[in-house]
Amino acid sequence: MRRISIFGATGSIGQNTLDLIARAPNTYQVVALTGGGNIAQLARDAIAHRAQVAVTAYEDRLSDLQDALAGTGIEAAAGEAALIEAAARPADWVMSAIVGAAGIAPGFAALEQGATLALANKESLVAAGQLLLSTAATHGADILPVDSEHSAVFQALLGEEVAQVERVIITASGGGLRDWPIEKLADATPQDAGAHPNWDMGQRITIDSASMFNKALELIETREYFGFNPNQIEAVIHPQSLIHALVGFCDGALMAHLGPPDMRHAIGFALHYPKRASLPVARLDLAQIGALQFEAPDDARFPALRLARDVMEMRGGAGAVFNAAKEIALDGFLAREIGFMQMSVVVEETLSRIAQEVSLSNPLESLADVRGMNHLARVRAREVMARVSQMRR
Ligand code: NAD
Ligand code: MG
Repeated sequence: MRRISIFGATGSIGQNTLDLIARAPNTYQVVALTGGGNIAQLARDAIAHRAQVAVTAYEDRLSDLQDALAGTGIEAAAGEAALIEAAARPADWVMSAIVGAAGIAPGFAALEQGATLALANKESLVAAGQLLLSTAATHGADILPVDSEHSAVFQALLGEEVAQVERVIITASGGGLRDWPIEKLADATPQDAGAHPNWDMGQRITIDSASMFNKALELIETREYFGFNPNQIEAVIHPQSLIHALVGFCDGALMAHLGPPDMRHAIGFALHYPKRASLPVARLDLAQIGALQFEAPDDARFPALRLARDVMEMRGGAGAVFNAAKEIALDGFLAREIGFMQMSVVVEETLSRIAQEVSLSNPLESLADVRGMNHLARVRAREVMARVSQMRR
Protein backbone atom coordinates (compact mmCIF):
# COMPACT_ATOMS: atom_id res chain seq x y z
CA MET A 1 0.00 0.00 0.00
CA ARG A 2 1.30 3.41 -0.95
CA ARG A 3 1.01 5.97 1.85
CA ILE A 4 -0.34 9.29 0.67
CA SER A 5 -1.34 12.62 2.21
CA ILE A 6 -3.31 15.45 0.63
CA PHE A 7 -2.89 19.04 1.79
CA GLY A 8 -5.85 21.12 0.65
CA ALA A 9 -7.94 17.97 0.20
CA THR A 10 -11.25 19.88 0.22
CA GLY A 11 -10.25 22.17 -2.66
CA SER A 12 -10.45 21.74 -6.39
CA ILE A 13 -7.09 19.96 -6.79
CA GLY A 14 -7.61 17.99 -3.58
CA GLN A 15 -11.00 16.68 -4.69
CA ASN A 16 -9.65 15.69 -8.09
CA THR A 17 -6.83 13.83 -6.34
CA LEU A 18 -9.30 11.99 -4.12
CA ASP A 19 -11.34 11.11 -7.21
CA LEU A 20 -8.33 9.29 -8.66
CA ILE A 21 -7.52 7.60 -5.34
CA ALA A 22 -11.10 6.37 -4.96
CA ARG A 23 -10.89 4.63 -8.34
CA ALA A 24 -8.09 2.35 -7.15
CA PRO A 25 -9.32 0.65 -3.96
CA ASN A 26 -6.74 -1.13 -1.78
CA THR A 27 -3.87 0.70 -3.46
CA TYR A 28 -3.42 3.65 -1.17
CA GLN A 29 -3.28 4.18 2.55
CA VAL A 30 -4.32 7.74 3.32
CA VAL A 31 -2.25 9.27 6.11
CA ALA A 32 -3.41 12.90 6.34
CA LEU A 33 -6.15 14.98 4.72
CA THR A 34 -6.38 18.70 5.38
CA GLY A 35 -8.86 21.45 4.69
CA GLY A 36 -10.10 24.82 5.85
CA GLY A 37 -13.63 25.76 6.90
CA ASN A 38 -15.47 23.01 5.03
CA ILE A 39 -15.47 20.62 8.00
CA ALA A 40 -18.29 18.42 6.68
CA GLN A 41 -16.40 17.72 3.46
CA LEU A 42 -13.13 17.10 5.28
CA ALA A 43 -14.75 14.67 7.71
CA ARG A 44 -16.68 12.90 4.96
CA ASP A 45 -13.51 12.36 2.92
CA ALA A 46 -11.44 11.33 5.95
CA ILE A 47 -14.03 8.69 6.80
CA ALA A 48 -14.46 7.47 3.21
CA HIS A 49 -10.70 7.13 2.76
CA ARG A 50 -9.95 5.89 6.31
CA ALA A 51 -7.41 8.64 6.91
CA GLN A 52 -5.16 8.48 9.95
CA VAL A 53 -5.58 12.19 10.70
CA ALA A 54 -7.72 15.09 9.45
CA VAL A 55 -6.52 18.66 9.97
CA THR A 56 -8.40 21.92 9.58
CA ALA A 57 -6.36 25.07 9.14
CA TYR A 58 -8.60 26.91 11.58
CA GLU A 59 -8.06 26.34 15.31
CA ASP A 60 -11.53 27.58 16.19
CA ARG A 61 -13.04 24.77 14.10
CA LEU A 62 -11.29 21.96 15.97
CA SER A 63 -14.30 21.02 18.09
CA ASP A 64 -16.52 20.87 14.99
CA LEU A 65 -14.04 18.51 13.37
CA GLN A 66 -13.78 16.41 16.53
CA ASP A 67 -17.58 16.13 16.63
CA ALA A 68 -17.76 15.14 12.98
CA LEU A 69 -15.14 12.43 13.49
CA ALA A 70 -16.36 11.17 16.89
CA GLY A 71 -16.26 7.38 17.12
CA THR A 72 -14.39 6.89 13.84
CA GLY A 73 -10.91 6.48 15.33
CA ILE A 74 -9.62 9.23 13.01
CA GLU A 75 -7.52 11.86 14.75
CA ALA A 76 -8.64 15.48 14.48
CA ALA A 77 -6.22 18.39 14.64
CA ALA A 78 -6.18 22.11 13.80
CA GLY A 79 -3.89 25.03 13.08
CA GLU A 80 -0.65 25.68 11.30
CA ALA A 81 1.55 23.62 13.63
CA ALA A 82 -0.81 20.66 13.21
CA LEU A 83 -0.55 20.99 9.41
CA ILE A 84 3.22 20.83 9.62
CA GLU A 85 3.10 17.91 12.06
CA ALA A 86 0.80 16.04 9.65
CA ALA A 87 3.19 16.73 6.75
CA ALA A 88 6.04 15.25 8.77
CA ARG A 89 4.18 11.94 9.22
CA PRO A 90 5.79 9.28 7.04
CA ALA A 91 4.18 9.11 3.61
CA ASP A 92 5.40 8.10 0.16
CA TRP A 93 3.54 10.75 -1.83
CA VAL A 94 2.21 14.09 -0.63
CA MET A 95 -0.08 16.36 -2.63
CA SER A 96 0.58 20.03 -1.90
CA ALA A 97 -2.70 21.73 -2.86
CA ILE A 98 -3.32 24.36 -0.23
CA VAL A 99 -3.90 27.72 -1.93
CA GLY A 100 -1.45 30.54 -1.20
CA ALA A 101 1.63 31.00 0.96
CA ALA A 102 0.00 28.87 3.69
CA GLY A 103 0.95 25.85 1.56
CA ILE A 104 4.69 26.50 1.70
CA ALA A 105 5.70 25.19 5.14
CA PRO A 106 3.87 21.83 4.94
CA GLY A 107 5.64 21.17 1.61
CA PHE A 108 9.02 21.63 3.26
CA ALA A 109 8.05 19.28 6.08
CA ALA A 110 7.01 16.64 3.54
CA LEU A 111 10.32 16.92 1.68
CA GLU A 112 12.29 16.72 4.91
CA GLN A 113 10.79 13.31 5.66
CA GLY A 114 11.72 12.17 2.14
CA ALA A 115 8.24 12.03 0.58
CA THR A 116 7.68 12.71 -3.12
CA LEU A 117 6.02 16.11 -3.26
CA ALA A 118 3.34 16.49 -5.94
CA LEU A 119 3.35 20.28 -6.17
CA ALA A 120 0.16 22.09 -7.15
CA ASN A 121 0.91 24.93 -4.71
CA LYS A 122 2.76 27.15 -7.18
CA GLU A 123 3.36 29.72 -4.46
CA SER A 124 6.02 27.36 -2.99
CA LEU A 125 8.18 27.60 -6.10
CA VAL A 126 7.56 31.29 -6.61
CA ALA A 127 8.30 32.34 -3.03
CA ALA A 128 10.93 29.75 -2.10
CA GLY A 129 12.01 27.96 -5.27
CA GLN A 130 15.75 27.74 -4.71
CA LEU A 131 15.35 26.67 -1.08
CA LEU A 132 12.65 24.13 -1.95
CA LEU A 133 14.80 22.45 -4.60
CA SER A 134 17.86 22.35 -2.37
CA THR A 135 15.79 20.90 0.50
CA ALA A 136 14.53 18.17 -1.82
CA ALA A 137 18.10 17.40 -2.94
CA THR A 138 19.37 17.26 0.65
CA HIS A 139 16.71 14.76 1.63
CA GLY A 140 16.74 12.73 -1.59
CA ALA A 141 13.09 13.66 -2.18
CA ASP A 142 11.44 14.32 -5.56
CA ILE A 143 9.25 17.24 -6.50
CA LEU A 144 6.80 16.59 -9.35
CA PRO A 145 4.97 19.54 -10.89
CA VAL A 146 1.17 19.39 -10.87
CA ASP A 147 0.43 22.68 -12.56
CA SER A 148 -0.80 21.57 -16.03
CA GLU A 149 1.77 23.70 -17.91
CA HIS A 150 4.70 22.43 -15.86
CA SER A 151 3.55 18.84 -16.03
CA ALA A 152 3.43 19.37 -19.81
CA VAL A 153 6.99 20.76 -19.92
CA PHE A 154 8.18 17.94 -17.67
CA GLN A 155 6.65 15.38 -20.04
CA ALA A 156 8.07 17.09 -23.15
CA LEU A 157 11.52 16.89 -21.53
CA LEU A 158 11.43 13.15 -20.78
CA GLY A 159 14.45 11.56 -22.45
CA GLU A 160 15.75 14.95 -23.61
CA GLU A 161 18.76 16.99 -22.62
CA VAL A 162 17.88 20.26 -20.93
CA ALA A 163 21.00 21.84 -22.47
CA GLN A 164 19.41 21.37 -25.91
CA VAL A 165 16.30 23.32 -25.03
CA GLU A 166 16.05 26.67 -26.76
CA ARG A 167 12.78 27.90 -25.35
CA VAL A 168 9.70 27.01 -23.36
CA ILE A 169 6.27 28.34 -24.27
CA ILE A 170 3.60 28.38 -21.59
CA THR A 171 0.06 28.79 -22.85
CA ALA A 172 -2.59 30.98 -21.24
CA SER A 173 -6.32 30.92 -21.88
CA GLY A 174 -6.55 34.67 -21.38
CA GLY A 175 -9.06 34.16 -18.54
CA GLY A 176 -12.64 35.23 -18.07
CA LEU A 177 -12.17 38.83 -19.25
CA ARG A 178 -10.26 38.00 -22.41
CA ASP A 179 -12.83 39.54 -24.71
CA TRP A 180 -13.49 42.66 -22.64
CA PRO A 181 -12.32 45.99 -24.09
CA ILE A 182 -9.25 47.11 -22.16
CA GLU A 183 -10.86 50.36 -20.96
CA LYS A 184 -13.65 48.41 -19.24
CA LEU A 185 -11.27 46.20 -17.21
CA ALA A 186 -10.93 48.77 -14.43
CA ASP A 187 -14.61 48.19 -13.59
CA ALA A 188 -14.52 44.38 -13.57
CA THR A 189 -15.97 42.85 -10.39
CA PRO A 190 -14.80 39.68 -8.62
CA GLN A 191 -17.83 37.97 -10.12
CA ASP A 192 -16.86 39.02 -13.66
CA ALA A 193 -13.28 37.82 -13.16
CA GLY A 194 -14.29 34.66 -11.30
CA ALA A 195 -15.70 32.74 -14.25
CA HIS A 196 -13.19 30.77 -16.32
CA PRO A 197 -13.89 29.87 -19.95
CA ASN A 198 -12.21 26.43 -19.82
CA TRP A 199 -11.04 25.29 -16.39
CA ASP A 200 -13.06 24.63 -13.26
CA MET A 201 -10.75 25.79 -10.45
CA GLY A 202 -10.75 27.48 -7.04
CA GLN A 203 -11.92 31.12 -6.90
CA ARG A 204 -8.50 32.69 -6.29
CA ILE A 205 -6.67 31.01 -9.17
CA THR A 206 -9.62 31.75 -11.47
CA ILE A 207 -9.33 35.50 -10.78
CA ASP A 208 -5.55 35.21 -11.11
CA SER A 209 -6.17 33.75 -14.57
CA ALA A 210 -8.20 36.79 -15.62
CA SER A 211 -5.45 39.17 -14.43
CA MET A 212 -2.70 36.86 -15.75
CA PHE A 213 -1.14 36.86 -12.29
CA ASN A 214 -1.56 33.10 -12.55
CA LYS A 215 0.51 33.05 -15.75
CA ALA A 216 3.04 35.38 -14.14
CA LEU A 217 3.41 32.92 -11.24
CA GLU A 218 3.78 30.12 -13.79
CA LEU A 219 6.58 31.88 -15.68
CA ILE A 220 8.46 32.25 -12.40
CA GLU A 221 7.63 28.63 -11.52
CA THR A 222 9.14 27.53 -14.85
CA ARG A 223 12.28 29.50 -14.17
CA GLU A 224 12.65 28.07 -10.67
CA TYR A 225 11.71 24.45 -11.26
CA PHE A 226 13.47 23.79 -14.58
CA GLY A 227 16.26 26.39 -14.27
CA PHE A 228 15.77 27.96 -17.72
CA ASN A 229 16.89 31.54 -18.25
CA PRO A 230 14.13 34.15 -18.25
CA ASN A 231 14.76 34.94 -21.92
CA GLN A 232 13.99 31.31 -22.82
CA ILE A 233 10.52 31.43 -21.26
CA GLU A 234 7.53 32.86 -23.14
CA ALA A 235 3.77 33.02 -22.67
CA VAL A 236 1.26 32.83 -25.52
CA ILE A 237 -2.50 33.16 -25.40
CA HIS A 238 -4.24 30.01 -26.57
CA PRO A 239 -7.96 30.38 -25.89
CA GLN A 240 -8.84 26.66 -26.19
CA SER A 241 -6.48 25.53 -23.37
CA LEU A 242 -5.75 22.27 -25.21
CA ILE A 243 -2.01 22.75 -25.64
CA HIS A 244 -0.64 23.26 -22.13
CA ALA A 245 2.98 24.04 -22.99
CA LEU A 246 5.56 23.60 -25.74
CA VAL A 247 9.28 22.95 -25.54
CA GLY A 248 11.49 24.12 -28.42
CA PHE A 249 14.81 22.37 -29.04
CA CYS A 250 18.04 23.50 -30.75
CA ASP A 251 17.09 21.73 -33.98
CA GLY A 252 13.89 23.76 -34.28
CA ALA A 253 11.57 20.96 -33.12
CA LEU A 254 8.69 22.11 -30.95
CA MET A 255 7.18 19.43 -28.71
CA ALA A 256 3.64 20.30 -27.65
CA HIS A 257 1.65 18.63 -24.89
CA LEU A 258 -2.09 18.45 -25.61
CA GLY A 259 -4.90 17.27 -23.43
CA PRO A 260 -8.38 18.24 -22.25
CA PRO A 261 -8.56 20.94 -19.55
CA ASP A 262 -8.85 18.39 -16.73
CA MET A 263 -6.38 18.56 -13.82
CA ARG A 264 -6.71 14.83 -13.26
CA HIS A 265 -4.20 14.38 -16.07
CA ALA A 266 -1.39 16.33 -14.34
CA ILE A 267 -2.35 14.90 -10.93
CA GLY A 268 -2.51 11.34 -12.29
CA PHE A 269 0.79 11.74 -14.12
CA ALA A 270 2.47 12.76 -10.83
CA LEU A 271 0.69 9.98 -8.95
CA HIS A 272 1.90 7.22 -11.26
CA TYR A 273 5.27 8.65 -12.32
CA PRO A 274 7.63 7.22 -13.56
CA LYS A 275 4.98 5.00 -15.15
CA ARG A 276 1.86 6.03 -17.01
CA ALA A 277 -1.53 4.66 -16.07
CA SER A 278 -4.94 4.88 -17.69
CA LEU A 279 -6.73 8.03 -16.53
CA PRO A 280 -10.43 8.97 -16.67
CA VAL A 281 -9.94 12.10 -18.78
CA ALA A 282 -11.68 12.85 -22.07
CA ARG A 283 -9.80 12.00 -25.26
CA LEU A 284 -9.44 14.85 -27.73
CA ASP A 285 -11.19 14.63 -31.08
CA LEU A 286 -8.87 16.79 -33.20
CA ALA A 287 -11.07 16.76 -36.30
CA GLN A 288 -13.94 18.07 -34.21
CA ILE A 289 -11.74 20.74 -32.61
CA GLY A 290 -10.70 21.82 -36.09
CA ALA A 291 -8.38 24.71 -35.31
CA LEU A 292 -6.16 25.99 -32.55
CA GLN A 293 -5.63 29.73 -32.02
CA PHE A 294 -2.66 31.65 -30.64
CA GLU A 295 -2.13 35.31 -29.89
CA ALA A 296 0.64 37.36 -28.29
CA PRO A 297 -0.36 38.68 -24.85
CA ASP A 298 -0.74 42.46 -24.59
CA ASP A 299 1.50 43.84 -21.80
CA ALA A 300 -0.75 46.88 -21.29
CA ARG A 301 -3.65 44.58 -20.58
CA PHE A 302 -1.63 42.19 -18.44
CA PRO A 303 1.02 44.14 -16.48
CA ALA A 304 1.56 41.04 -14.30
CA LEU A 305 3.60 39.48 -17.11
CA ARG A 306 6.04 42.40 -17.19
CA LEU A 307 6.42 42.22 -13.38
CA ALA A 308 7.11 38.49 -13.63
CA ARG A 309 10.03 39.23 -15.97
CA ASP A 310 11.57 41.54 -13.35
CA VAL A 311 11.08 38.91 -10.65
CA MET A 312 12.66 36.19 -12.80
CA GLU A 313 15.72 38.40 -13.28
CA MET A 314 16.02 39.37 -9.60
CA ARG A 315 15.23 35.97 -8.02
CA GLY A 316 16.23 35.87 -4.33
CA GLY A 317 13.42 37.30 -2.23
CA ALA A 318 11.61 38.95 -5.14
CA GLY A 319 9.31 35.97 -5.72
CA ALA A 320 8.20 35.91 -2.08
CA VAL A 321 7.37 39.62 -2.26
CA PHE A 322 5.60 39.25 -5.59
CA ASN A 323 3.48 36.38 -4.31
CA ALA A 324 2.61 37.96 -0.95
CA ALA A 325 1.75 41.33 -2.51
CA LYS A 326 -0.39 39.55 -5.10
CA GLU A 327 -2.27 37.70 -2.34
CA ILE A 328 -2.95 40.95 -0.46
CA ALA A 329 -3.99 42.71 -3.68
CA LEU A 330 -6.34 39.83 -4.51
CA ASP A 331 -7.86 40.03 -1.00
CA GLY A 332 -8.34 43.76 -1.63
CA PHE A 333 -9.98 43.16 -4.99
CA LEU A 334 -12.29 40.50 -3.50
CA ALA A 335 -13.24 42.96 -0.73
CA ARG A 336 -13.86 45.63 -3.43
CA GLU A 337 -11.22 47.89 -1.86
CA ILE A 338 -9.27 48.17 -5.11
CA GLY A 339 -10.19 47.68 -8.73
CA PHE A 340 -9.12 44.88 -11.05
CA MET A 341 -6.31 46.86 -12.73
CA GLN A 342 -5.05 48.18 -9.39
CA MET A 343 -3.89 44.74 -8.28
CA SER A 344 -0.77 45.05 -10.42
CA VAL A 345 -0.21 48.61 -9.14
CA VAL A 346 -0.14 47.28 -5.57
CA VAL A 347 2.31 44.51 -6.50
CA GLU A 348 4.62 46.80 -8.47
CA GLU A 349 4.74 49.46 -5.74
CA THR A 350 5.29 46.86 -3.03
CA LEU A 351 8.24 45.43 -4.96
CA SER A 352 9.82 48.86 -5.40
CA ARG A 353 9.17 49.91 -1.77
CA ILE A 354 10.81 46.76 -0.42
CA ALA A 355 13.70 47.09 -2.88
CA GLN A 356 14.55 50.34 -1.07
CA GLU A 357 14.71 48.50 2.27
CA VAL A 358 16.50 45.25 1.42
CA SER A 359 18.42 43.75 -1.48
CA LEU A 360 15.75 41.69 -3.18
CA SER A 361 18.16 39.53 -5.12
CA ASN A 362 19.75 38.12 -1.94
CA PRO A 363 18.79 34.45 -1.65
CA LEU A 364 16.37 33.34 1.07
CA GLU A 365 18.37 30.78 2.97
CA SER A 366 15.87 29.31 5.41
CA LEU A 367 12.16 28.91 5.88
CA ALA A 368 12.45 31.67 8.51
CA ASP A 369 13.81 33.99 5.79
CA VAL A 370 10.87 33.06 3.55
CA ARG A 371 8.40 33.76 6.36
CA GLY A 372 10.14 37.04 7.17
CA MET A 373 10.00 38.25 3.57
CA ASN A 374 6.40 37.09 3.21
CA HIS A 375 5.46 38.99 6.38
CA LEU A 376 7.26 42.19 5.38
CA ALA A 377 5.67 42.10 1.93
CA ARG A 378 2.20 41.70 3.41
CA VAL A 379 2.69 44.66 5.73
CA ARG A 380 4.01 46.87 2.92
CA ALA A 381 1.37 45.69 0.45
CA ARG A 382 -1.38 46.66 2.91
CA GLU A 383 0.16 50.12 3.28
CA VAL A 384 0.42 50.51 -0.49
CA MET A 385 -3.13 49.24 -0.91
CA ALA A 386 -4.52 51.76 1.58
CA ARG A 387 -3.08 54.53 -0.58
CA VAL A 388 -4.10 52.98 -3.90
CA SER A 389 -7.67 52.46 -2.71
CA GLN A 390 -7.87 56.20 -1.91
CA MET A 391 -6.94 56.97 -5.52
CA ARG A 392 -9.96 55.02 -6.59
CA ARG A 393 -12.45 57.17 -4.74
P1 NAD B 1 -9.14 25.80 -3.72
O1 NAD B 1 -9.44 27.16 -3.23
O2 NAD B 1 -10.17 25.05 -4.47
O3 NAD B 1 -8.68 24.88 -2.49
C1 NAD B 1 -7.71 25.32 -1.58
C2 NAD B 1 -7.48 24.36 -0.45
O4 NAD B 1 -6.59 24.98 0.51
C3 NAD B 1 -8.75 23.99 0.34
O5 NAD B 1 -8.62 22.68 0.81
C4 NAD B 1 -8.70 24.98 1.52
O6 NAD B 1 -9.40 24.50 2.64
C5 NAD B 1 -7.24 25.05 1.80
N1 NAD B 1 -6.83 26.30 2.43
C6 NAD B 1 -7.22 27.56 2.09
N2 NAD B 1 -6.62 28.47 2.90
C7 NAD B 1 -5.83 27.76 3.75
C8 NAD B 1 -4.95 28.14 4.82
N3 NAD B 1 -4.76 29.42 5.17
N4 NAD B 1 -4.28 27.15 5.47
C9 NAD B 1 -4.45 25.86 5.12
N5 NAD B 1 -5.28 25.44 4.13
C10 NAD B 1 -5.96 26.39 3.45
O7 NAD B 1 -7.79 25.93 -4.57
P2 NAD B 1 -7.32 25.06 -5.82
O8 NAD B 1 -7.87 25.65 -7.06
O9 NAD B 1 -7.51 23.61 -5.54
O10 NAD B 1 -5.76 25.40 -5.83
C11 NAD B 1 -4.86 24.82 -4.90
C12 NAD B 1 -3.43 25.14 -5.34
O11 NAD B 1 -3.19 24.50 -6.58
C13 NAD B 1 -3.16 26.63 -5.57
O12 NAD B 1 -1.83 26.91 -5.24
C14 NAD B 1 -3.37 26.78 -7.07
O13 NAD B 1 -2.63 27.86 -7.61
C15 NAD B 1 -2.82 25.45 -7.56
N6 NAD B 1 -3.34 25.03 -8.86
C16 NAD B 1 -4.67 24.80 -9.01
C17 NAD B 1 -5.18 24.38 -10.24
C18 NAD B 1 -6.66 24.08 -10.42
O14 NAD B 1 -7.03 23.61 -11.50
N7 NAD B 1 -7.51 24.29 -9.44
C19 NAD B 1 -4.31 24.21 -11.32
C20 NAD B 1 -2.95 24.44 -11.13
C21 NAD B 1 -2.48 24.84 -9.88
MG1 MG C 1 -1.54 26.24 -14.63
